[in-house]
Amino acid sequence: NKQIHLDNRPQGEAAASNFKLVTAQTPELKDGEVLVRHHFLSLDPYMRGRMNDAKSYAAPQPLGQVMQGGTVGEVAESRHPKFQPGDKVVGFGGWQEYSVVDGNQPGVLRRVDTAHVPLSHYLGAVGMPGVTAWYGLVRIIEPKEGQTIVVSAASGAVGSALGALAKARGCRAVGIAGGPDKCRYVTEELGFDACIDYKQHKDAHSLSKALKEAAPKGVDGYFENVGGMVMDAVMLRMNAFGRIALCGMIAGYDGQPIPMTYPQLLLTNRLLLQGFIVSEHMDVWPQALQELGTLVGTGKLRPRESVADGLEAAPEAFLGMLKGRNFGKQLVKVS
Ligand code: NDP
Repeated sequence: NKQIHLDNRPQGEAAASNFKLVTAQTPELKDGEVLVRHHFLSLDPYMRGRMNDAKSYAAPQPLGQVMQGGTVGEVAESRHPKFQPGDKVVGFGGWQEYSVVDGNQPGVLRRVDTAHVPLSHYLGAVGMPGVTAWYGLVRIIEPKEGQTIVVSAASGAVGSALGALAKARGCRAVGIAGGPDKCRYVTEELGFDACIDYKQHKDAHSLSKALKEAAPKGVDGYFENVGGMVMDAVMLRMNAFGRIALCGMIAGYDGQPIPMTYPQLLLTNRLLLQGFIVSEHMDVWPQALQELGTLVGTGKLRPRESVADGLEAAPEAFLGMLKGRNFGKQLVKVS
């Protein structure tokens, strides 16, 4: 069983040398356990935070252990009556080829239907990133028909789902993404009303001017994935009583400073800003997954994936994602 461990913690930027490829024996199954063969690993920005030994909402990734993370695959062997070999499952098996799972632990291993939704999408649009978009939009932004909703990192796993959910609620969806190809995908494939390439703008004022054209009635809801200059630009266009769901600040994950230049706008525009962690809201998952599954099944949400080939490719693909080299949900195909 090939595995990737966290070998040492990053000093500043994360690097491939922080990880180590290890080969381990797969343990014998005990009663109630299931052996899962992973097809895809999910690479997610939150993993960067856990590589640090810092106080956060989740414990740090332990050194010398398999990198934790979401997985989809199939049951290879089972000593649990609820799981049969061949069942397609989503779990949290980590960066390795196989995982042994206690089938009795509630919610840890979930059987999924791949008739209408491809297995890999359970790590993206119909999985944790999709639910993240749903929670921030529905529970924090609480959009009303006709309002303008902006999302940063719009072509990514969370951002793409956000667009489809906002359109389904009759909103104007405006994306911000890096580069012309991503922007074209956001409007042409994902159905956003407009998308702005932030890389064409040197500062928040210039980006904010472009946003004025894309959002002529101002911004009612902002779903923030990035932080820094992009956030400043949107803050300058927020309408009074606008709402900001603070989901992520990836521009600062490798330790870069991300100052907030206009905090006074929170006051003068009477904005609501709420951070959230999706795993603390398990109550919304069934409802959110239902809607996301329907959007994907009916072709209203066409998520894109970047797939790295082989477990060994995981560290480089992960570091690339932190720099925006992914285009859509970043996965690793294990077998
Ligand atoms: P994405 O698929 O969106 O991939 C990350 C993207 O971030 C890149 O493709 C890149 O897009 C963009 N990016 C990277 N660096 C920068 C930068 N310096 N400035 C601007 N954009 C940058 O990842 P996810 O959809 O999985 O995650 C999106 C966000 O949601 C992350 O911040 C993540 O931490 C957060 N998140 C939060 C959760 C929660 O519970 N709060 C749960 C899940 C995710 P581009 O090329 O367009 O710049």
